[in-house]
Amino acid sequence: MTALQHLLLITHDGSGAATGTIDADAEHPHITVNDAGLTRGDGIFETYSVIRGRPQAFDAHLERFARSARMLDLPQPDPGIWRDAVLTVAQRLADHDEAWVRTIITRGEDGDDLLTGWVHGRPSPDFRRDRTEGVRIALLDRGLRSDVAQTSPWLLAGAKTLSYAINRAAVREANRRGADDVIFVSSDGFLLEGPTSTVVLRRGNTVVTPPTDFGILPGTTQGDLFAAAAEWGLTAAAEPLTPADLEAADAAWIVSSVRHVAPIRAVDGIERPIDASLSAAWNGFLYARHS
Ligand code: PLP
Repeated sequence: MTALQHLLLITHDGSGAATGTIDADAEHPHITVNDAGLTRGDGIFETYSVIRGRPQAFDAHLERFARSARMLDLPQPDPGIWRDAVLTVAQRLADHDEAWVRTIITRGEDGDDLLTGWVHGRPSPDFRRDRTEGVRIALLDRGLRSDVAQTSPWLLAGAKTLSYAINRAAVREANRRGADDVIFVSSDGFLLEGPTSTVVLRRGNTVVTPPTDFGILPGTTQGDLFAAAAEWGLTAAAEPLTPADLEAADAAWIVSSVRHVAPIRAVDGIERPIDASLSAAWNGFLYARHS
């Protein structure tokens, strides 16, 4: 039987430089109880979509990994070692139509200067239903202003850190409200992002997304869709957006690396139209991406 999960450990020296990779068994534990990634959520990650063994948005994920490292004062990830490790794990998943690969760096064991790093991959769940029928969204106040990244950079808004307990709690709250997922709203009333996704609205022939200086993650999926917007006769822009803009939009989506494009079919219990044909076109485009 072929393994479903694949794991490479990334070794580091005391200066924080990556030194190589070690094949490891993903079915067995490798992280110690003192690891700051576990005890503090102190680390960073990326999740790549992998189609038939091919990682997507490769450069954008590597760049964002490096950006998150800078924001957390972690040493820069060695692009060569991480790139090769992602490719290796991705290729081991080539028998699967859709899979994901996650890269993680933690600050390592307390009292030790060695970072912990690994690349882990496995087949993706089936997202066909989310992609075609859409998702129900709850709007939740994030409790932070849209200028939080400028006023309080230590809150790490817009870094892809391991501290996702809040993002998970928000989805549970959405579930309690009868919704599947969340769009966070800033305390000054602007749409931000989902706990694992970027918000995209269509108004006529324009697609819009909130600006990344609102303390949100620059989405690689939204980046690829917007770079190709002209293929669908669309112009693309980043601009401040409110819940009223979401209500008035012709169509709305949350987009992300592994689930790809999920149309929004309801907001706070109120049904809204979905754009099934653009959703299908975008999902087809994302599936066929070559990098
Ligand atoms: N925003 C947050 C907070 C995320 O965690 C993610 C992805 O997980 C995204 C946006 C979407 O980014 P990407 O399209 O690169 O997956």
